Amino acid sequence: MSEKTIFQKIIDREIPAPLVYEDDLVAAFNDINPQSPTHVLIVPKKVIPRVGEAGSEDQATLGALLLAAGRIAEKLGVKDLSKGFRLVINHGRDAGETVPHLHVHLLAGRALDWPPG
Ligand code: AMP
Repeated sequence: MSEKTIFQKIIDREIPAPLVYEDDLVAAFNDINPQSPTHVLIVPKKVIPRVGEAGSEDQATLGALLLAAGRIAEKLGVKDLSKGFRLVINHGRDAGETVPHLHVHLLAGRALDWPPG
């Protein structure tokens, strides 16, 4: 069995991090190095290393990540169109992936540039 990822340790409550959201399939917590006033990581409880390695058996989990994003945005008061939020998934080196446990970044609280750097 390979070593747990930092996110798996948070989900298993081995590393303390307040959860912003949790359901059967996903958990969410604040990013330790926020890139915007709101920066939440939404993580599947099942360890899928990265989005391109998800399989058809992961369809419900992938859907749960996006549904959680909407719920978290509403809870944090950024879902209104006058504000808004961005979801980011990094896959691999060129995208800047650093933790090999699929996660969706939810960024909000400031006007975000496009295209990204
Ligand atoms: P990525 O570059 O897409 O793989 O994103 C990994 C993210 O995990 C980065 O934004 C890090 O700041 C964040 N991160 C790393 N360790 C922790 C931790 N212990 N708690 C919360 N966020 C973390």
